[in-house]
Amino acid sequence: MTTDQMQKEIEKTFAEKFGGEGSVYASAGRINLIGEHTDYNGGFVFPGAIDKVIMADIRPNGTDKVRVYSMDIKEYVEFGLNEEDAPKESWARYIFGICREIIKRGGTVKGFDAVFAGNVPLGAGLSSSAALESCFAFALNDLFNGNKIDKFELAKIGQSTEHNYCGVNCGIMDQFASVFGKEGNLMRLDCRSLEYEYFPFKPEDYRLVLVDSRVKHELADSPYNKRRESCERVAKRLGVETLRDATMDELNKVKGDISAEDYMRAKYVIEEKDRVLAVCDALNAGDYETVGKKMYETHEGLSKDYEVSCEELDYLNDLAKEMGVTGSRIMGGGFGGCTINLLPNGLHDRFVETVTEKFKDKYGHEPKVYDVVISDGARLVKEGPKA
Ligand code: ADP
Ligand code: MG
Repeated sequence: MTTDQMQKEIEKTFAEKFGGEGSVYASAGRINLIGEHTDYNGGFVFPGAIDKVIMADIRPNGTDKVRVYSMDIKEYVEFGLNEEDAPKESWARYIFGICREIIKRGGTVKGFDAVFAGNVPLGAGLSSSAALESCFAFALNDLFNGNKIDKFELAKIGQSTEHNYCGVNCGIMDQFASVFGKEGNLMRLDCRSLEYEYFPFKPEDYRLVLVDSRVKHELADSPYNKRRESCERVAKRLGVETLRDATMDELNKVKGDISAEDYMRAKYVIEEKDRVLAVCDALNAGDYETVGKKMYETHEGLSKDYEVSCEELDYLNDLAKEMGVTGSRIMGGGFGGCTINLLPNGLHDRFVETVTEKFKDKYGHEPKVYDVVISDGARLVKEGPKA
């Protein structure tokens, strides 16, 4: 469904459920072009908002109750705004959490009616949950707080919602990207200082395609924690706070004193930091071939040095390379999930067909393929009638 069609459906449903109309808000899912496993090392990530959104029609209802209808899940939920009023439906807890986190920070939230829907695929690595949080955080800031809460705080409100109401201990990237996203721009976020900068991403001759392997390998020992511990050990050995502050020269000097595994992990992280910076330069120069080359290097590093790939993802990456895709790499933590692919326009249809067919032949199920365009993040889509 296109975003315009979705808006019409939402407005129609709002009129049926609550009568009349409210204001329509949207916020987006996100991709991360490059900068993987860098956040907990104080490095850079490089996300952008995409043309897949959560959209909500919302209107204050003059009570102290929130009444929400989820069009996709086809459920209606009502809740109050005190801590003990938390709903049990997991999708509603995201909205409740946003309300509570605003109130906890001294902001205002009163009762409202809402109908929402989305076209961000759930659990595909595009962060539908951040889109949902950012949509409501942005809306409640506009409707009840005169937009006084600054945008970074809106992102943190989304992050705290995941931590405190949804049991997900996430970083800030997803909510940041969803709130700050801008059409035709990616954002380099410094995970240490939280400074950010926009870089143009307007590839006229290329497009971005995600291939979701739809596999998720759950490994027994927590590989994520083990990677983190390796990074921390090496940083300590080098006398720096995080690997963000280390160079390959410094790492090579201590190579004999650390385990081969720790060395490989740290090497990946240090090289990845430099790759993000190289991609920024390339984008400023409109050089998408270099961007693509760096994406392949990231994949190689994630696969061989950081060892968070898996057979299916390496297969998708090899296939991309064979077909002349400009850049391809694992997006997200690894062990399954998506690859992100930058490819020439003319290759698109053949790539999608081939990857779908060959992956199915080999692994017994089709991957899901998503075209994405870098678009705006949280926004007011349509202002409702003045009360
Ligand atoms: P993702 O990687 O897409 O963020 P999560 O598991 O973090 O996956 O978040 C998905 C959850 O967000 C869903 O289980 C649901 O509770 C909520 N959600 C996302 N999109 C929608 C939607 N369109 N309608 C209702 N709830 C949604
Ligand atoms: Mg999520």
